[in-house]
Formats: sequence, structure tokens, C-alpha cells
Amino acid sequence: MDLTYAPEDRAFREQCRAWLEANVPRHDLMTLDERRAWHRKLYEAGYVGMLWPKEYGGWGATPMQQAIVQDEMARAGAPPAINGLGIGFIGPTIIVHGTEWQKRRYLQKMLTAEEIWCQLYSEPNAGSDLASLRTRAEDQGDHFVVNGQKIWTSSGPIADWGILLARTDPGVPKHKGISCLLLHMRQPGVEVRPLKQITGHSLFSEVFMTNARAEKRDLLGKPGQGWEIAQTTLGYERGANSLGRVTRYAISFTQLVRAAKDLRRGGRPLLQDPVVRAKMGKLYAELEVQRYAALRVLSALDKGEAPGPFSSVTKLSYTEFEKRFYETALEILGPYGELMSATADYEEVDTSSGEPGTWATAFLWSRAGTIYSGSSEIQKNIIGERVLGLPKEVRADRLRA
Ligand SMILES: Cc1cc2nc3c(=O)[nH]c(=O)nc-3n(C[C@H](O)[C@H](O)[C@H](O)COP(=O)(O)OP(=O)(O)OC[C@H]3O[C@@H](n4cnc5c(N)ncnc54)[C@H](O)[C@@H]3O)c2cc1C
Repeated sequence: MDLTYAPEDRAFREQCRAWLEANVPRHDLMTLDERRAWHRKLYEAGYVGMLWPKEYGGWGATPMQQAIVQDEMARAGAPPAINGLGIGFIGPTIIVHGTEWQKRRYLQKMLTAEEIWCQLYSEPNAGSDLASLRTRAEDQGDHFVVNGQKIWTSSGPIADWGILLARTDPGVPKHKGISCLLLHMRQPGVEVRPLKQITGHSLFSEVFMTNARAEKRDLLGKPGQGWEIAQTTLGYERGANSLGRVTRYAISFTQLVRAAKDLRRGGRPLLQDPVVRAKMGKLYAELEVQRYAALRVLSALDKGEAPGPFSSVTKLSYTEFEKRFYETALEILGPYGELMSATADYEEVDTSSGEPGTWATAFLWSRAGTIYSGSSEIQKNIIGERVLGLPKEVRADRLRA
């Protein structure tokens, strides 16, 4: 593995850095329209949908170039693209499974954030056990009638469209009776109720569907193919490419070091306390492990290898690290953590309320990472079964034998 950047990648990085320096807006008070405008500007610069095929509005860039943009955006404290779920994994799922009509109708407007997308998978009794979902879609010839409830729908309150999993055939084993539909959110049969999170933001929601309508042409893939399509979405969602994330941690780490130099406890700077120094040293070592793990995945992607179930290793590793990182930060900062801004640009935290993100907010938000896109326990199950090839279930009587 070659850890140096090629001359053309270095030139691309410089060009990207210069563009961001000239264009990054002040973003803690951005309105929804301003965030859409910023997304569009990023797209027009070639920094959104970078890996998507050119025929659908993408840029045909390399994974390395995409990682460089994410890295530079983190460095510049740039607000992320607003249609993150659409760009990150719903659009790529439509590219894999969609009809030509669906690709032409939906992808370009997703790229420009003219239409914002959400993911309608989880239900009150179907999170980890997603295949138990109970939302029904009944085939009425030219359309489906949808009834049921979804929960934890990120971006639900601002979404125009949703990718929906619904049961179309209750008479077959549960994984086989699920279909995937593209649902228009702005219709009378769809009610979105925002949910207040522990951080105080309302980024996600409950969605109630009462005789909602989904057109036949908006069936993604074939009837009964929903489970397979969900695996495609989750593969993208678990995120193979985490270099930008590591850069954000590194920036936060630098801020933490600065704070530990400035703050005094017992008459001396915190950084002179041997316990604080030991904790910071451990964090730094873990941060470097994250960096090399991200580079390893990037190197594989650049060679055209698919991450597959290995994305669970990456996801488990960085989300658990993130929790430890902010826990340690709060231990070190004490009450100052409530007041001081965590300058890591927190892409998932909705800054539209205008509240600055404190270390305490980042700490609270870090709890989410080990739940969304499949909890840590589920990632461990996947790693055990699909990466290590361990048996699915070890029965107690066999253990004793
Ligand atoms: C910030 C955030 C955003 C989200 N956004 C979306 C979204 O946009 N769209 C969407 O559809 N969903 C979304 N989700 C939902 C997310 O996918 C679910 O919360 C997640 O899959 C877990 O499901 P659950 O909450 O029902 O917990 P449960 O499945 O009830 O799990 C409860 C606990 O049991 C453990 N557990 C469950 N099954 C097993 C098992 N087989 N082995 C070992 N342990 C197990 C879990 O690890 C967990 O600790 C979001 C969640 C969060 C936190």
C-alpha cells in the first residue's frame, strides 16, 4: 500500500482547498434555503455525487478525489451537503436497482437538492429485526396503497421523497414479502411528526402513512426484492470511506489539547496533570489507528474493490471510538464542556436552530453512531458471520458436548 498522494491528487487537493477558502459560508445560522443553495454550489463545483455516473449528473471522479474533498471540507469547517441521505446511499441504491425512468426522474433533482430524501425503514417494533416490519403496501393495479408507521426518520420534516420498505406479500417468509417503493412525502396520506432528541434538536421524526399512494412506476426493483435492496442501502450507509471523519476528530483533538493548555485546575494547566496527559496520549494513539484504517479502506476502494461486509468493521470501529473520544473530552473539560464549542464540524447535528455545537452536544450525539445503520451488536453479528465465517448460532448443548 502506497501512502503518498500522486501528483494529480495533490493538485486536486490544492484546487479544492482554494475553492473552499473562497466559498465556505458562515453556517451556524443557515436557513433551509441557504443550506439548499450551499448544497447546489457544492454540486456545481463537482463536489457532490462525485462517484455517480456522468449520464445521471455525477462527475465520474475517483474514490481518492472524493476522500480528498471530504477531508478538505472537514478541514475548512464547511457545512455538509443538505441532501446527505440521498447522496450518500439512496441515490446509489437507485443507480443499482432503479429503472431508466426512475434514474432520469429522481437522480438529478437529488444532486441539486431540489428534492430532499429520507429513509423509511425502521418501525417501532422493527429496528435491528428490520424484516419484521409491518407497514403494508397493497397492489391496486396502477398504484399501491400504503398503511403503517415508521420511526427515527432522519430529515423526515424536510423530505420531499422517501425510500420505503413495506410488506406486499404477508403469505411468504418475512424476508421475502418485502418490497421497496419510492414514496412522495408531500401528500395528504403522509403525516410527519418531529421527534425531540437528547441534544434538543428535532432532526428525525415519526411518519404515519394512512392510505398513502405510491405509483407502480415507483416500485424499486421487483416485488419481494425489498430485503435485497435494503442490504444495498445499508452497505453504502455504513460508509466505507471515513477519512473526512478522521480529519474532524483530529481537528477536535487539536482543540482539546488547546483547551487543556488554557484551562487550569488546582492552580496549573490541565495538560500538566499526568492523568489528563495519559488520557490524551491514549486518544491520540486511537486516532492514528482510525486514520490508518480509513486509508486502508480508501486504498481498497481506489483499486476498485467493494467493501462488502467489511464496512461493518469500519463502522463499529469509528463509532465506538467516537463515543470514547467525547467521553474522555468531557471528563477532561468538566463543566467547561457545557460552554465550549466543539469545533469538529458535526455533520449530523442539525445546526439550523442556530445553536452552536458544544462538546456536551457532540458527546450526546456520539451515542447515536452506535445505534443508527445497525447497532454495534448487529455489526458484531455481521462480522462474526460474514467476515469471520463463524456459525450463526452456537447452541448451549453443542458447547457442552
Ligand atoms: C440518529 C439516528 C438516526 C436514524 N435514522 C434513521 C432513518 O433515517 N431511517 C430509518 O429507517 N431508521 C433510522 N434510525 C433507526 C435505526 O436504524 C435503529 O434505531 C436501529 O436499527 C436499532 O433499532 P431499534 O432502535 O429498534 O433498537 P432494537 O432493535 O430494539 O435494539 C435494542 C437493543 O438490542 C440490541 N439487539 C437487538 N437485536 C440484537 C441481536 N440480534 N443481537 C444482539 N443484540 C441485539 C441492540 O443492539 C440494541 O442495543 C436512526 C437511528 C438513530 C439513532
